[in-house]
Amino acid sequence: MSLPFDAATASSAYQAALQVIESVEPTVAGAIRGELADQRASLKLIASENYASPATLLTMGTWLSDKYAEGTVGHRFYAACQNIDTVEQAAAEHAKALFGASHAYVQPHSGIDANLVAFWAILAQRIESPALAEAGAKHVNDLTEDDWQQLRRAMGNQRALGMSLDAGGHLTHGFRPNISGKMFEQSSYGTDPETGLLDYDAVRATAREFKPLVLIAGYSAYPRKVNFATMREIADEVGAVLMVDMAHFAGLVAGKVFTGDFDPVPHAHVVTTTTHKSLRGPRGGMVLCQPEFADSVDRGCPMVLGGPLGHVMAAKAVALAEARQDSFRAHAQDVADNAVALAEGLSRRGVRLVTGGTENHLVLLDVSGFGITGRQAESALLDSGIVTNRNAIPRDPNGAWYTSGVRIGTPALTSRGFGTAEFDRVAELIVDVLTATAPTAAASGGSSKAKYTIADGVAEKTHTAADELLAANPLYPGLDLG
Ligand code: PLP
Repeated sequence: MSLPFDAATASSAYQAALQVIESVEPTVAGAIRGELADQRASLKLIASENYASPATLLTMGTWLSDKYAEGTVGHRFYAACQNIDTVEQAAAEHAKALFGASHAYVQPHSGIDANLVAFWAILAQRIESPALAEAGAKHVNDLTEDDWQQLRRAMGNQRALGMSLDAGGHLTHGFRPNISGKMFEQSSYGTDPETGLLDYDAVRATAREFKPLVLIAGYSAYPRKVNFATMREIADEVGAVLMVDMAHFAGLVAGKVFTGDFDPVPHAHVVTTTTHKSLRGPRGGMVLCQPEFADSVDRGCPMVLGGPLGHVMAAKAVALAEARQDSFRAHAQDVADNAVALAEGLSRRGVRLVTGGTENHLVLLDVSGFGITGRQAESALLDSGIVTNRNAIPRDPNGAWYTSGVRIGTPALTSRGFGTAEFDRVAELIVDVLTATAPTAAASGGSSKAKYTIADGVAEKTHTAADELLAANPLYPGLDLG
C-alpha cells in the first residue's frame, strides 16, 4: 500500500471516534463502518476517485469546522481566526512549493467552485478592472448606474473555448447545463477523428475565429498529455487567458510525471484543480495563478463561495504535505505506469482504446466491438465486482447516457498497492466479462441499450478473482474499527 499510514494509531483514533458517534446516532456510525467495508471490497477503477490517508481524513473531523473566517489570511471579516489563518497559510504554502506556483487559493469547496472562482477572477481582471479605470472609479460601488449596467452587460457578453464533452471535456468548461454555459458564449474544440488526439492546429484555427476571452484546457476523460506550452501560445496569439483545469491529473503534476510543456503551472495564467482525485487529498478545490490574477482570485469568497471550510483547508495542508514527499512521486509514476500496463493488457486482448493507449492515469475503452453499450458494459462489470463508469467516446452514436465507452482509472487501486502485474490481471478480467456480455431485448418500458445477460458463471468467477486481488492488496491494512 502506497499510502503513508500507521495502523495502530489510526485504529485507536477511529475506534474512539466511532464510539462517540454511535452514542448519538448509531445509523451514521453504521454507515461509516459500512462505507469502509464497501470500499475494501470494491475493485475501484473510477478515474476520479482515490483513498485519502487517515491523517487527511482525521483532520476533517475537528473543530476547525466550527469557525467562520470569510476573507483571507490576516484579513478576515471575523475575529479570532488565528488558527484558520495558520491552516490556510500552511495549505497555500505547500501548494505553492509543490506546484511551483506564485499564488495559491485553497478555499474552493470543490472543483466546480474552483472553476467559478477562476472565471470570475478572469472577468474581474480583464473586463471589470479596465472599466473601473476608464470610469476613474476604484470600486464598483463608485460607478454611476449607467456605467454599472454597461459593465454588467460586458461581463455577461464574453466567450470561452474549451474541449468538447465527447472529446473528454468537462461540463464546467462552458456547457449549458452548468452555470459556465449560461455565463459565457461557448465554443469547443474536439479531437482528430482518425487518431483521437488533440489537434492543436484545429484548436488554433477555432481560437482565431472565435476569439475567446478564456481558452480552457483540461479534461475528465482524455487519456493523453496536453501540451500546455502550445495552448499558451494559442491563447497569446488571440489575446485569451489560458485557464487549465487539472482536476483529474493534478497528482501527476504534483508527482512530476507531467513536466516541461506538459506541466500547466508555468504556462497557464490560472490553474484550477480538485484536491480529492489523483492528488489524494480531501474533497475540495484549489486555484493557482500568476500574480496578475492573485487579488481577484482571493476574492472568491464572498464573490461565489461561502465561508471557507477550516477543517478541509487543514486537511488540504496535510495531504499537500504528503504529496511533497518522495513517496508521492513514486506513487504518481506508478499510477502512470499502471495505466500503461492496463492499456497494453486491454489492447493485447483486442479492446479498442480511444487514442490507442494512455499517457496519464486513465484509459477510455470503446466497447462497441463487443456489441454492447457503455451502460451495459458498466453494469456487467459491476455485477462481476469491477467498479467503472460509462463515458461517451468522441462522436458517440449512443450519446452521453448510454454511451459506447467505459472510463477506467488507476489512482485508487495504485494507492491500494496494485502494480503492473495486477493491472494486467484486471485487464484480463474486464475482457472476460465484456466478451461474455450480450444485449437482450428490452423488457416493456426498458431500453435495449440497457439490458444485457452475462454468460453463465462468468460474473461469479470474475468476482472471486477480483476478491483475490483485493485480499492480496488490502485497503488501509491493519486498520481495525473494533
Ligand atoms: N473539473 C474536472 C475536469 C472534473 O473532472 C471535475 C469532476 O468530475 C470537476 C471539475 C468538478 O469537481 P467537483 O466534483 O469537486 O466539483
